[in-house]
Amino acid sequence: MIETSDTSCKTTCPYCGVGCGVVIPKDQGATPSVTGDKDHPANRGRLCVKGSSLHETLGDDDRLLYPRVRGQQASWPEAVDAVAHAIRKAVDEHGPGSVGFYLSGQLLTEDYYAANKLAKGFIGTPHVDTNSRLCMSSAVAAHKRAFGADVVPACYDDLELADLVVLVGSNTAWNHPILYQRIKAAGREGRRVVVIDPRETATSEVADMHLRLKPGSDTYLFNGLLAHLYRSDSLNSDYIEQHCHGFIEALAPALASAPDIEAVARQCDIPAEDLARFFDWFAENDRTVTVFSQGVNQSAAGTDKANAIINCHLATGRVGKPGASPFSMTGQPNAMGGREVGGLANTLAAHMDYQSPEDVDRVARFWQSPGLAKGPGYKAIDLFDAVHRGDIKVLWIMATNPAVSLPDNARVREALALCPTVIVSDCIAKTDTTHFADILLPATGWGEKDGTVTNSERRISRQRQFLPNAGDAMPDWWIISAVGRALGHESAFSFENPASVFREHARLSAFENDGRRPFNLSALAALTDDEYEALAPCQWPVTEKNPNGLERLFTDGRFATADKRAHFVPIQPALPTQQPDSQHPLVVNSGRIRDQWHTMTRTGRTARLWQHRAEPFIDVHPDDAAKADLKQGQLGRLKGRLGDFVGRVMVTDAQRAGEVFIPIHWNQQFSSTGLASSLMAPDVDPISGQPESKHGVARLERFPARWEARLLCRETHPRMWQAAQWSKVPLEGCESWWIAGEEAVDWSTTAARWLGGTPQIVMSDPSTGRFRAARFYQGRVLAVLLVEPPEGVLPDLAWLASCFGKESLTSAERRAILAGRDAELPDIGQIICSCFQVGQKQIEAAIQAGTGSVTGLGDALKCGTNCGSCIPELKKLIETTTIDADSATSKTEEGAALVTGQ
Ligand code: SF4
Repeated sequence: MIETSDTSCKTTCPYCGVGCGVVIPKDQGATPSVTGDKDHPANRGRLCVKGSSLHETLGDDDRLLYPRVRGQQASWPEAVDAVAHAIRKAVDEHGPGSVGFYLSGQLLTEDYYAANKLAKGFIGTPHVDTNSRLCMSSAVAAHKRAFGADVVPACYDDLELADLVVLVGSNTAWNHPILYQRIKAAGREGRRVVVIDPRETATSEVADMHLRLKPGSDTYLFNGLLAHLYRSDSLNSDYIEQHCHGFIEALAPALASAPDIEAVARQCDIPAEDLARFFDWFAENDRTVTVFSQGVNQSAAGTDKANAIINCHLATGRVGKPGASPFSMTGQPNAMGGREVGGLANTLAAHMDYQSPEDVDRVARFWQSPGLAKGPGYKAIDLFDAVHRGDIKVLWIMATNPAVSLPDNARVREALALCPTVIVSDCIAKTDTTHFADILLPATGWGEKDGTVTNSERRISRQRQFLPNAGDAMPDWWIISAVGRALGHESAFSFENPASVFREHARLSAFENDGRRPFNLSALAALTDDEYEALAPCQWPVTEKNPNGLERLFTDGRFATADKRAHFVPIQPALPTQQPDSQHPLVVNSGRIRDQWHTMTRTGRTARLWQHRAEPFIDVHPDDAAKADLKQGQLGRLKGRLGDFVGRVMVTDAQRAGEVFIPIHWNQQFSSTGLASSLMAPDVDPISGQPESKHGVARLERFPARWEARLLCRETHPRMWQAAQWSKVPLEGCESWWIAGEEAVDWSTTAARWLGGTPQIVMSDPSTGRFRAARFYQGRVLAVLLVEPPEGVLPDLAWLASCFGKESLTSAERRAILAGRDAELPDIGQIICSCFQVGQKQIEAAIQAGTGSVTGLGDALKCGTNCGSCIPELKKLIETTTIDADSATSKTEEGAALVTGQ
């Protein structure tokens, strides 16, 4: 099947692990629009709001365009020489173990393969880890313990075939939106969805039952389920006997930790009758899929949690069958590809393992390696500890931002500052991590990259190039190969193109495989360049026997262990390492938001994606807000054991009392104190090494702001303020800054500095603390400053920001600018539907005018009719918007005005 044509290019979304197909029309200039690929099995034509905004993230702004060596722009030969020199010197003086690599699930498989080969095979260092350690390494470890190999046995169709879908620790609606849409669309009589999550999230709206368990108590719950399956005679005894080991050993701790359902319910802090009903549903439904994601993995007991889930599937014989499997959902676009090439410090390429001397020998022989690293290296937290100790002299970071994403980021930053040579390959010039780089290497970005990625269902898809490289940017595999050759390994790194890297990767997967390793791409090992270019999405293994790949694995109950039997794992339940105390009484959960991705280096480039959430926030239960004397919209500060986090308080009973939620995306490019990782201790799972990134503890208090300001300026603004709290939103035509200060400010003198010149219009009311000023040039607005006392309300951004897109403002608009909104236009409130720019107040007005369904809102306002990501929020608004019968008539009129934008 040809995947490209003269008029369009088929590629893959670079964000989440769903791996949606994207179509780019050709000849649309530098910023072509994108559509979903109807032929791609993952998304069948749909895209979420992030995917459908991809074309808005293109362009050279903020890109790293040229190599830089210790502050100076350099040519590629100079940069490659500098990297090779630093590595050679470290190896000569301190041995190969003094060189470390920190890779990323954002890399393409070809990049990952080349990096792993260079580091482990030719430099000889085992210290190669990846940000996938933070995402799904617990799932990897659990798969290996249970199945003998890191294999996801299921496919996305199983989510539709299942009669019971259990979503554990997964806000699927926001984090895997297209799969959520598929789960939802498959609703039918008798089919059920159970959500297991402490928080009420957008995903809860699809749930027939939501178990809001105590954070981290998952092992109690699934041990309880295993015990229930036993006690209710719901086991698949034939399957256990014929295909598994270790059931009795796993059952014993399950029975001990779950004497009865009430005891489990108490441990998990959920109603016993709900738990009993869930256990019965699980027991009754042969077609059950249990999806687990970061809420399970990002835990000091993540591997045990995943194995506790897998135990229940093995006990019922539900692995690799249509509509029946445990299903680990990966976060990143190519986390799975990284696992295939051995990107984790404890694995070898092509699903081989350091634990097997034969595997070490096999990989060394295949690569003709001069000194393959013989044992596992440092996992992420240990790697940065080694950097901090001074054991790592050269650290090469590719396509990731550890200064933001690793827990205890202050220590990570210290480590980066101490490291003699930090090399960073990235497509973005300014990140919290590039700040520490001695050598900066410009890598190609999405649209320029060419290679493959593997999604959560093992489906390999092509990411194709449809744009020329920006500046001097080059593909990562090319950069790595150039360094490999500069280190003297000419033939090992003579790759001509990504196809040649892929062929070698596929050949290694087949090398002396003999059916022992499920990961096998033997049928792709001889692809021509043209066949590689046209490669259609396929699920591994892809072999002579299964040339089109396999949807499911282990369907016959034969696993990847020596005797082909799966292993039950005995689970001793445990709660998270960090527990609240009188100083830090709140549990802190962290996660993604709907419209942003990772540290916002890409999604932060499009104004549309900022409209859903524009600044760091703290979701807090009303009781906890009241205890801290905080109200909706005020600034709160979480004080943790290692650092602080400041955010806008969102009071919501979607949080359990005693627990708060914060987003992971903000970093020091966008906010002074919005780093979620500041509150997380580097506690790790002892088996997988995955950090407990979703469980910190903190105290909530009011941020003592004396004033709050919003500054919009046309030019990128150097920060002129000492204020402890700021956050930034890049918009079209201007930047917007939120600033809050604890000190008194003389605005009459300060305004001119912040605005970049003397304002032409000023409004000051010292009695209230309110101040407004603006600068213009030839009718265009240059900068606006709005200051309010902390209890004041600053206007929404939309109208103000739109003024920066105008060449000349009318006199009425100039007058209105100090009010922050055009009195002629309705205030539509926070944007809920990013695709069609529909605001909360418009939606509430339509509901109050009598529109009581999502379809009706779509008909009236178009909201929810494109990507569907906002549908859960629309449903929530339908549920929570009060219709006041007494004022129905006037509300109807108001609603009509807002709906039609009059
Ligand atoms: Fe991209 Fe959205 Fe698909 Fe994820 S669900 S791959 S972010 S389009």
